[in-house]
Amino acid sequence: MDPSLQLPATNPLDQSSFLTPKEIAAMSAIGMKTYGDLLEHYPKRHEDRRRFDAFPMQPTLQPVCLRGMVIDARSMRYSSSFASYEAIILDGKGGVFGSNKITLRWFNMPFLAKMLAAGHEVIVYGKVKDQKGKLVIDHPEFEILRDDDGTSIHIDGIVPIYKNISGIAQRRLREIMHTLLRRVRAETLTFPYDVAPRQRRADDIEHAHFPVSLEQAAQARRRFALEEFFTIQLNVVWRRARHFDHTGRVLGKKTSLLTAFYQSLPFDLTGAQKRSIKEILADMRSPRPMNRLLQGDVGSGKTFVAMAAMLLAIDSGCQAALMAPTQILAEQHYLTFQKWLAPLGVRLSLRTGNREEHSHEEQAQIIIGTHALLFQEQAFSDLGFVVIDEQHKFGVSQRARLISHGKKPDVLVMTATPIPRTLTLTLYGDLDVSVLDERPANRGKIITALRSNPKVSEITKFIKEHLDAGRQTYLVYPLVEESESVKAESATEAFEKWSKRLKPHQTGLLHGKMPAEEKEQIMQRFRANELQALVATSVIEVGVDVPNANIMIIHHAERFGLAQLHQLRGRIGRGKHKSYCVLLTDSKTPEALEKLQALVDSNDGFVIAEVDLRLRGPGDVLGTAQSGLSDIRFADFLADTNLLREARTHADEVIATDPKLEGIHAPLRAFIDHETLALEHRS
Ligand code: ADP
Ligand code: MG
Repeated sequence: MDPSLQLPATNPLDQSSFLTPKEIAAMSAIGMKTYGDLLEHYPKRHEDRRRFDAFPMQPTLQPVCLRGMVIDARSMRYSSSFASYEAIILDGKGGVFGSNKITLRWFNMPFLAKMLAAGHEVIVYGKVKDQKGKLVIDHPEFEILRDDDGTSIHIDGIVPIYKNISGIAQRRLREIMHTLLRRVRAETLTFPYDVAPRQRRADDIEHAHFPVSLEQAAQARRRFALEEFFTIQLNVVWRRARHFDHTGRVLGKKTSLLTAFYQSLPFDLTGAQKRSIKEILADMRSPRPMNRLLQGDVGSGKTFVAMAAMLLAIDSGCQAALMAPTQILAEQHYLTFQKWLAPLGVRLSLRTGNREEHSHEEQAQIIIGTHALLFQEQAFSDLGFVVIDEQHKFGVSQRARLISHGKKPDVLVMTATPIPRTLTLTLYGDLDVSVLDERPANRGKIITALRSNPKVSEITKFIKEHLDAGRQTYLVYPLVEESESVKAESATEAFEKWSKRLKPHQTGLLHGKMPAEEKEQIMQRFRANELQALVATSVIEVGVDVPNANIMIIHHAERFGLAQLHQLRGRIGRGKHKSYCVLLTDSKTPEALEKLQALVDSNDGFVIAEVDLRLRGPGDVLGTAQSGLSDIRFADFLADTNLLREARTHADEVIATDPKLEGIHAPLRAFIDHETLALEHRS
């Protein structure tokens, strides 16, 4: 087509001559306004339809792409509200067939009977599973081939598969995209920073849709991944640039409290703890406001590092605050701080939604609390040091709010959720990082085992042996109450049974729906060893510290997330006794077993985090609330480390030459997220 007749990507869709009004309506319903919006509806994947997978003989872990012929299809009705449609396909094409069969199955989709019938040639895509000896793909993606497909865009090449736009069939969508690429000048769809030469961006757009080789598609993907990383890194570098401010506090000149604290400890700090405290101290002594992340697996001793830092802060005369995400955790911290710091004469106070407690009449030096702290400006006269525990449980704006109670306080955020290096750069790229990669000495080993269909009597015997020897046990359940839809035994139900089974030992029940006071009482009794066993939900995930407990039995383990299971397991192995974590499951799905096996294989939070990321993807692992991640379509956080670094270099260059993005990079301001801009505005 004559390029001068081509349209710019900014043209509105509703003036299109090749789309029907219904199609335009469907597109606008999902927010598409221009040709450019439609062009950016990139395929979710490609199928190489020059060759197909062989019909498998057994279940597959990965989806397969098969070509075959429907030889039989029927509807089945199980009840008034439950029906299925099944089609059997035979391998082969063009009239030459083998003898391998696969059953395709859909539930409650009656309209399929009108679409797909014996005699149709199809391409299907999905995971194969074993259904009582029959190989089945449930809800496959499929496309019916037509006689006149020949060498069309639908076959014999690398074919784009799009995320559905409701009301537009896959084939039609592919045709629309193909037309679009001829009618619209792709170079008018721009990104305001050239991560690679501009001319080639238009090619990459085309190749992202209709590549002639898989390498071409991969090349295009890399460009768009780089642009995504660039956007994230621009945010990170922008936020970081705000810290090059030299008007912060200088703390940590006086160290007498810290020395007294060290002398009172019955143990030596680990090398990693000492190193982290040194790094923090250097930050505190600099006039640049500290913004540091302390990363360390559960039980690595973060609390003691935070305590040391807070002592340095209050020794300089200001106040320090610690914010924790739950009541239990805040109370636990308060107890720990009291135990170690009250003897040094430190004035403490606890402030949660339902409780206030002060160790002294005079104003507190260290204030510990939950979200409630955000609304207690009056509690602070001179807040100079802020610690945020389990920081990923708080939003950027909550962090900012607590910080705003002080005047440029030094900030330490802590997390026990280890994340792979690439994600650290992404999420915490604006922070300096200290890592506790060493467990305190004298810790018993943790042995993890996976058991299906275990005998209750055996578990009971195992637990009792340890209770008789003076230890304590956690029995973890995913649910509080029995529910009809879910077949899992609930904590409440289980509590009755375990109370009887473990007699004469005492059992308690702890779950999130209990009033805070009752929860605290139960924890108190468990800590005091008045209760030897605790039936609990994941409320014990963080903060609970009872070194005498050495067994954790997790029921229906497959229902918990991997990171959560690792956190739960962190409740044991805190004392000198050998500890046991037993994962119970009835599940036989390969995904569940792979997940649980990862815990058996490793006790290293970073390894587990990578498995988790691989199994679930970053959006699910970190929650889309973590800014920037929800828009990621191309970038792969595990595989694209180099692209991420490249993006960081670009972002550093941009901010170095145009720190406020007011010059030639002004168009990039649109890529700085709103929360970040709001923060900038406030400070
Ligand atoms: P985290 O907050 O990283 O999960 P904590 O700071 O709560 O870990 O410490 C976990 C447990 O280890 C606590 O019981 C604490 O008393 C103990 N602990 C911390 N540091 C050391 C150390 N250096 N040596 C021995 N025990 C330690
Ligand atoms: Mg902790």
